[in-house]
Amino acid sequence: MKKTGQGSIKLNFLEMTVFPILVLGIIIVLFSSSMFSNSMEEEVESGLKNLGLAVLNTYDVAYPGDYVMQLKGEKGIEILKGDKIISNNYNIIDKIKEKTGIDITIFYQDTRILTTILDSEGNRIIATAAHPMILQEVYEEQKECFYNNAAIGGIEYFAYYAPIYNADGACIGMIAAAKPAKKVTAMISKSVFLIIVLAVIAMMVTSAICIGFTNRIVEIIQEIKAFLSSVSSGNLTSKLDAKVLERNDEFGEMGRSTVHMQKALRVLIEQDTLTKLYNRRSGENKMKTVYQRSQNTGVPFAVSIGDIDYFKKVNDTYGHEAGDAVLKNIANILNKNMQGRGYVARWGGEEFLLVFENATQKVAREALLDILNHIRSSEVTYEEEKIKVTMTFGVVPGDCTKEMKVLLKEADDKLYWGKENGRNQVAE
Ligand code: GH3
Ligand code: MG
Ligand code: MG
Repeated sequence: MKKTGQGSIKLNFLEMTVFPILVLGIIIVLFSSSMFSNSMEEEVESGLKNLGLAVLNTYDVAYPGDYVMQLKGEKGIEILKGDKIISNNYNIIDKIKEKTGIDITIFYQDTRILTTILDSEGNRIIATAAHPMILQEVYEEQKECFYNNAAIGGIEYFAYYAPIYNADGACIGMIAAAKPAKKVTAMISKSVFLIIVLAVIAMMVTSAICIGFTNRIVEIIQEIKAFLSSVSSGNLTSKLDAKVLERNDEFGEMGRSTVHMQKALRVLIEQDTLTKLYNRRSGENKMKTVYQRSQNTGVPFAVSIGDIDYFKKVNDTYGHEAGDAVLKNIANILNKNMQGRGYVARWGGEEFLLVFENATQKVAREALLDILNHIRSSEVTYEEEKIKVTMTFGVVPGDCTKEMKVLLKEADDKLYWGKENGRNQVAE
């Protein structure tokens, strides 16, 4: 089964980058929000406490003496602080409420005698009792307490309660400083919302950077992958994008190595190992390219097949290795002299195919005569023996009305004629 793995690396990359950012971001938001709201609550608590105690101080300074209850008329009662009647005197606590927005309540025993809290009809909720639990904890057990859900007059409050003592140490009531829970939570929510917005923006920016980086990396990997699969399917001329090759990192190195591998493969497939010329298959391909170009443009070309004369004798006289040295020497001469003229390939054994581009048969023949002169005057020294050889060439014009194999047969026929008629010549 063919396994493509398309897209999985991108998913893996994103899983390794964006996912942890999101998880970490959410954890940080939850943790910092909870820390923040706790510290805000603590802040509110200490604010309420300070204010409550400050109010008691104010009363002590303004009206020195104990809190005392005395009868007023037949049934009524009134509360005195020192010798001053404080029940029904809201001056101090109203001022504080006006300045701070915090409600103050003073209890005599379990009953509210002074308060800034109003009921739904706008009347102060005096002469009402505190919640039994608060009464128990603050008045009976004489503890300062903070509640974040104290229900007063049907509304939830953040409230601080503290016992009030007379000079002899007897607990005679309580003071409460309270702020509507709605106001506190609104303040906390506003700040937490800001934290969340900032965290989300930070997560989005980081994720966008990660996604952008991942996309670039994956794009490069896909370029290399496409190039490798093109090479592995036999395309040895495909090109790797320059943006990969120009990179200075490991991907650039990977790309350059892949291109080297492609070149090595091309050499292995196209080159003849002994002479380093194109092998027969590549020679045929080169000729096909020239043939098709001529078909399209009408530019002339010529085809030649050359064969070393009496080569068997070289092998027989000096040995196979000497024969190889002669073959290499001939290949060098042919290669050098075909530069800018066309292509030369080892056609097999001691035979060579020469394709002359942009050349008539006449031009090719002249070039071949020149090449033949080089061959005649060249010699190979092998174990102090000087070996000289000649060659015979057959050359035909590149006629595109004929098939390639017909042209090759015609060149071969000319070569045969040359061999039959004295060798060491160019037959046309
Ligand atoms: P002719 O002039 O008619 O071409 O005669 P020839 O001796 O060149 O032709 P023949 O076909 O009789 O012999 C070709 C020889 O080339 C035979 C073979 O052993 C030799 N040969 C082919 N390939 C190689 C090679 O790679 N190295 C060596 N040393 N010899 C080779
Ligand atoms: Mg020969
Ligand atoms: Mg031969």
